[in-house]
Amino acid sequence: MGKLEPKRLIGLILILAASAFLIAATWLAPAVNRSQCVGCGDCAAICPTGSITIVRGKAVIDDASCIRCDNCVRACPYNAINGKDRKY
Ligand code: SF4
Ligand code: SF4
Repeated sequence: MGKLEPKRLIGLILILAASAFLIAATWLAPAVNRSQCVGCGDCAAICPTGSITIVRGKAVIDDASCIRCDNCVRACPYNAINGKDRKY
């Protein structure tokens, strides 16, 4: 097998990084912005899988059971949850 040229190596690394970013953006559970969350529980009430619990006044999402439906993102009246188009 021949040596990998630096240009090709950089291209390969860029492709892998872009793929990892896309996979993460698609599969990561929504993220709660703790400074915006007031613990109202609206997100937990609407979650179809019971993946959200309120812990010490803040919503906590269980990554393992979350099905990435983004219902919680839309339900939060304080805009405290970011889904697939996450900003933080
Ligand atoms: S709906 Fe929003 S403010 Fe209410 S508990 Fe969930 S994340 Fe926090
Ligand atoms: S994305 Fe859907 S399944 Fe996941 S925590 Fe939010 S409401 Fe629950």
